[in-house]
Amino acid sequence: MAEYEDTYEKVIELARRRGFVWPSSEIYGSVAGFIDYGPLGAMLKRRIEATWRRFYVVQEGYYEIECPTVGIEPIYVASGHVGGFSDKMFQCPHCQEFLRADHVAEAFGIPHAGTMSKEELQNVLVDKECPACGKVLGEVEVFDFNLMFTTSIGPGGQRKGYLRPETAQGMFVDFPRLLRFYRDHLPFGAVQVGKSYRNEISPRQGMIRLREFTQAEAEIFVHPEEKDHPNFSRYADYKMPLWGIAQQEKETPAVVKSMREAVDEGIIANEYVAYYVAMTHDILCTVGFNPDKIRFRQHMPDERAHYATDCWDAEALSDRFGWVEIVGIADRTDYDLKAHSRVSGQKNTVFVQYPEAKKVHHKAIVPNFGKLGPAFKGKAKPISEQMLTATPEADGIHLTIDGEEILVGPEMYTVKDEIVDVFGEDVMPHVIEPSYGIDRMCYMVLEHAYAEDVADGEARTVMRFKKGVAPIQVAVLPLMARDGLDEIAKNLVLELQNEGIQTEYDDAGAIGRRYRRQDEIGTPYCITVDYDTKDDASVTLRDRDSMQQIRGPAAAVLKALPDLLKGKLPFDTSSL
Ligand code: AMP
Repeated sequence: MAEYEDTYEKVIELARRRGFVWPSSEIYGSVAGFIDYGPLGAMLKRRIEATWRRFYVVQEGYYEIECPTVGIEPIYVASGHVGGFSDKMFQCPHCQEFLRADHVAEAFGIPHAGTMSKEELQNVLVDKECPACGKVLGEVEVFDFNLMFTTSIGPGGQRKGYLRPETAQGMFVDFPRLLRFYRDHLPFGAVQVGKSYRNEISPRQGMIRLREFTQAEAEIFVHPEEKDHPNFSRYADYKMPLWGIAQQEKETPAVVKSMREAVDEGIIANEYVAYYVAMTHDILCTVGFNPDKIRFRQHMPDERAHYATDCWDAEALSDRFGWVEIVGIADRTDYDLKAHSRVSGQKNTVFVQYPEAKKVHHKAIVPNFGKLGPAFKGKAKPISEQMLTATPEADGIHLTIDGEEILVGPEMYTVKDEIVDVFGEDVMPHVIEPSYGIDRMCYMVLEHAYAEDVADGEARTVMRFKKGVAPIQVAVLPLMARDGLDEIAKNLVLELQNEGIQTEYDDAGAIGRRYRRQDEIGTPYCITVDYDTKDDASVTLRDRDSMQQIRGPAAAVLKALPDLLKGKLPFDTSSL
């Protein structure tokens, strides 16, 4: 076997060779930050997305929407991306390479480089070497580089457009329609799975930092004062390691807590955030992350967006990249809805009915038309209308009509004390946002699944994918590609395909080599058709991880496979 530096190299080599992932547009010389998913990679990705949907769409009931990837300017003015979605960058004066200032500083062990100002970064970079050419940088200018790709809409480029830097804005912009869809009731949620684009400065980390990537985001709209999750009991006892602010400050390890404890002890801000922290852990384990290589890290106050009340990152450990952020879970308060309300003029509120009408004291203004008419003539009507909602001051009511400031004296109206019924109030919801990077999930699934062991005295590489995400579920292998064995095998393939099972037929080479090939792409089960099959219709079923084989009637194997793949049956002859 060739010598590789680390698991990353082995995984990437396997991914290219076996059709999972490769650089995009290779024949023209690839550009960093773009990848192609090959046949097995695209299948793996779809299965990971399907698992995600099973949780968010089926279990939670948050329907998926699909918005364009090109967005018009006001969306991203409102969201703050036009003004502030930038990274700090500099150009090496020697080799002219553009580099991300905080990443270079971090690589030299400078703590908190991500929260440093441009001036602070300039100061720390002075005596550092350029990672591209190795020369001492000296004085460099650190400046903001906006990460959004711009485009123009229509001929002549009359309208500016942006490729969306996240899928989230679609759900915020669609809030009024979603609210109506959910019959004007909180809480509700919507999700989106799709491409996002960020013109990353120097993406050198394979599938981790891409310029075009897939996100799966959920926006859950909740009453600002009701952050208890209605189904919290599902995850209340779910225990996992939490690396909260206190542990990070004291530089102590993560603490293992149940979600109930985490909320009660104030480690996690509320049940909604805790629920999605636990569900994220559940999802990552379900798709095949190694549970020992997952941690949940709380954002430090200086790292958290100013409007967010709590934010947790699910991080996974990679052999080469260390701890990598895979998912961000934040309570974003009403920041996004408020921002879009300001720019669009849309109210973005929900009318929330009180359980019982409240009696409220109200001061009603009754215009004295006998005096208003002679005093204001033609303006008397609009004045009398505006007065009704105005607040009287000591000298009267101040109004602006057609740009003219008018004072209506106290003799022109009376104020009546009334008690009125108020049935509810307009509330701007808060947003809980779990945001997943699907490509990072795919990479971690590949890295955590990668294993080497020994089979029949030979080194074998095996992708220990969870059965639910393995691209190929079953391979059917005739011992020989002749004597009718091939035909029996092909018929089995057809039957499995009719059951919706992704099946591959392979008759090329020695049977041991074919098992190795399937192990290397993580196929959970192989069915082998041999000469006994011709006599008694029995086949061999081989398990990828244990390499054990059991024998049984082909019909029983076909019947058991859907449940074996779901993990509902044990791998032994009792299942056949
Ligand atoms: P953010 O909006 O930056 O919190 O990103 C949400 C999630 O998207 C992150 O947790 C990542 O998993 C993923 N992500 C962000 N930027 C990239 C990128 N350049 N390439 C791949 N995934 C990304």
